[in-house]
Amino acid sequence: MTADVIDGKAFAAKIKLDVAKQVVILKEQHGIVPGLAVVLVGEDPASQVYVRNKNKSTKEAGMNSFEHRMLPDVSEAELLDLVKKLNEDPAVHGILVQLPLPKHINEAAVIDAISPDKDVDGFHVINSGLLATGGQGMVPCTPQGCIMMLKDRLGDMSGLEAVVIGRSNIVGKPVAQLLLNENCTVTMAHSRTRDLATVVGRADIVVAAVGVPELVKGSWIKDGATVIDVGVNRIEKADGKTRLIGDVEYDEAAKHASAITPVPGGVGPMTIAVLLKSTIVAACRQAGIEEPEV
Ligand code: NAP
Repeated sequence: MTADVIDGKAFAAKIKLDVAKQVVILKEQHGIVPGLAVVLVGEDPASQVYVRNKNKSTKEAGMNSFEHRMLPDVSEAELLDLVKKLNEDPAVHGILVQLPLPKHINEAAVIDAISPDKDVDGFHVINSGLLATGGQGMVPCTPQGCIMMLKDRLGDMSGLEAVVIGRSNIVGKPVAQLLLNENCTVTMAHSRTRDLATVVGRADIVVAAVGVPELVKGSWIKDGATVIDVGVNRIEKADGKTRLIGDVEYDEAAKHASAITPVPGGVGPMTIAVLLKSTIVAACRQAGIEEPEV
């Protein structure tokens, strides 16, 4: 068996196109221009790239993009003050504070200062709670992207065995919760899991969100399973250059799986597309209107 490649780039492009159409409808029919504010503290190179891409994609979709850059030694109080102003600004429908924050700032305090309605990252404790209790909150972007790809591929996932490797608050736990909402039988694996090979081997759906290059061996994958690789690991090649690889041993896994996401080009591109989509959702909810159908 050779797995189908789940093309996250193409999927993300389609979502972005739909979002741009929704923006036109919101402008024409409701006079709303969805706005996303992104706050970047410090000069972490990876964060700078993400923020630049987010701003570019937001503008390309026809939305307002508000970029706030703060020096690495900014105080927590100053950052909280900015978040408060963005909460109160009616032109801002979504707020994203780029993580990680410098060590002297309490990340949880900043995330929980964002108005839950504008928390497009879905990390606020109220939104995690709503996700866990079946309420309607903002859902984290990368996990939502994983589920969209799975649903597109599998349709009804009811009763399937799903294994999520990794239990972080930003990826593993929300992915597991979303799979449970899809009526999967969910196992969460982590660094203390005994015999990961056996746990993975019984799964119809494997989501790897660990951050360890090729931790998941291809031979562990059950024939016909669907594999979503969230991991992004930069490794050095023999020639000294670097390349990105996932948490799953791709070539070998592709011999067993029926479908698999590549790294790069799988889950990665979905995150920003879903962020734009979440900003539309937030803008519509704040205006008390239905999300436009396209
Ligand atoms: P994280 O907070 O470091 O969590 C890693 C998880 O992996 C932890 O739950 C840890 O278990 C588990 N783990 C570590 N070693 C393990 C092992 N040997 N066996 C089984 N489980 C193990 O990472 P994260 O933020 O969730 O991110 C995970 C990966 O996804 C990273 O590569 C990150 O770059 C990537 N990512 C990609 C996107 C995207 O594509 N847009 C977005 C977010 C993250 P314990 O809890 O027991 O320590």
